[in-house]
Amino acid sequence: VNYYLKNIQTKAHLNAFVEVYRESALAQAEKVDQKIIEGKAGRLAGMVVGIKDVLCYQDHESNASSKILKGYKSQYTASAVQRLIDEDAIIIGRLNCDEFGMGSSNENSVHGRTLNAIDESRVPGGSSGGSAVAVQANLCTVSLGTDTGGSVRQPAAFTGVVGIKPTYSRVSRFGLIAYASSFDTIGVFSSNIRDNALVLEVMAGSDEFDSTASRKPVPHYSELLHFDKQAKVAYLKETIYTDALQGEIQSATLDTLEKLRKEGHQVDEVNFPLLEYVLPTYYILTTAEASSNLSRFDGVKYGYRSPNAHNLESMYKMTRSEGFGDEVKRRIMLGTFVLSASYYDAYFTKAQRVRRLIKEFTENLLDKYDYIIMPTTPSTAFRFGEHSNDPVAMYLEDLYTVQASVSGVPAISIPNGTDQQGLPIGLQIMANSFKEADLYAFANYLS
Ligand code: GLN
Repeated sequence: VNYYLKNIQTKAHLNAFVEVYRESALAQAEKVDQKIIEGKAGRLAGMVVGIKDVLCYQDHESNASSKILKGYKSQYTASAVQRLIDEDAIIIGRLNCDEFGMGSSNENSVHGRTLNAIDESRVPGGSSGGSAVAVQANLCTVSLGTDTGGSVRQPAAFTGVVGIKPTYSRVSRFGLIAYASSFDTIGVFSSNIRDNALVLEVMAGSDEFDSTASRKPVPHYSELLHFDKQAKVAYLKETIYTDALQGEIQSATLDTLEKLRKEGHQVDEVNFPLLEYVLPTYYILTTAEASSNLSRFDGVKYGYRSPNAHNLESMYKMTRSEGFGDEVKRRIMLGTFVLSASYYDAYFTKAQRVRRLIKEFTENLLDKYDYIIMPTTPSTAFRFGEHSNDPVAMYLEDLYTVQASVSGVPAISIPNGTDQQGLPIGLQIMANSFKEADLYAFANYLS
């Protein structure tokens, strides 16, 4: 803990941590030391963990990086976090992110932006930018993020670390401040596959506080990392041969596929005619869900209340106008529009149908093939300000990550070399639902 506290201090300008739990982390470390001496240590003893600022931790503040949750302290701990604590992990602090998880660059945070440690003029990715940089810059052993449409995988790619989005429902969402409930998934950042697998196996599983959490048994992923089969791998033609993809990422991905072929694995090119519908489907459905989820922030129950309000209606209006940032407001408006009576069928219902098509295509393909491989992102880390005035350009950054989110299947991003400027390139691997063990083993083989 002392080692990480020192690093956090020297790297404070990266702005990865919003709050450091110095005293409680040191106290917890002493307890764990004692347990180790007594031979009673849990499976995560000594692991120092940072958590994204959207996860609740009892008696600690959580803001979802929004002004509207200023001063909000949670009365309970998220199940995912509690399970780590129960196995003697040490929670060292909370990590910066885009407001309510909405963004791809960490520029939409009330706490200010987090810098990418490899080049501080560049974004760390988002929305879990702080979680990615905390692992990248060695400020904790592993960190938790959340991934609704790429928010673990994309920042992992931009910072050169490992990031997994497990199957939707694999990890309880109890205590996670919601963005889009049918997409939100808690994931893990780490510098290696084994730590990642170990944390997920502790965190995953059924939960009496979240009826949507899967009851399927959780394999011991960290003990199943050996890979010795012949893999059947598909790659989607449209994701590789497109002008949207940076040339160096295209060649890094093709090189990996070629290497797999040479090593005797089956690698096939497959057409994915639905690619152009994946982003619109994602943004229609997530904004709809967000507009509903965020209606609870009205100045009554949580965090910020406008001091300028003079009656009930002005309290709602002024609290929300002053409390939410621009991107969140944009999405609430979009979401409210697609859910409105006259447009519901044209947008929301249609997007639900297309979601089903994308999910079926993806699952069927993953019945035939063990893995789908594609880049994690169309470009390496971009500069601050590069897309911040153009929401659509920012949304295009999520081109490769949203397919797994719309389909609910697990996906992992692992480092795959660098571009000419030395910026990390990410490789994304997808497997069918609940096949995290296969995903980790293959990622381990490729690392
Ligand atoms: N960048 C995507 C968005 O803004 C993904 C965010 C996320 O996964 N939380 O919605």
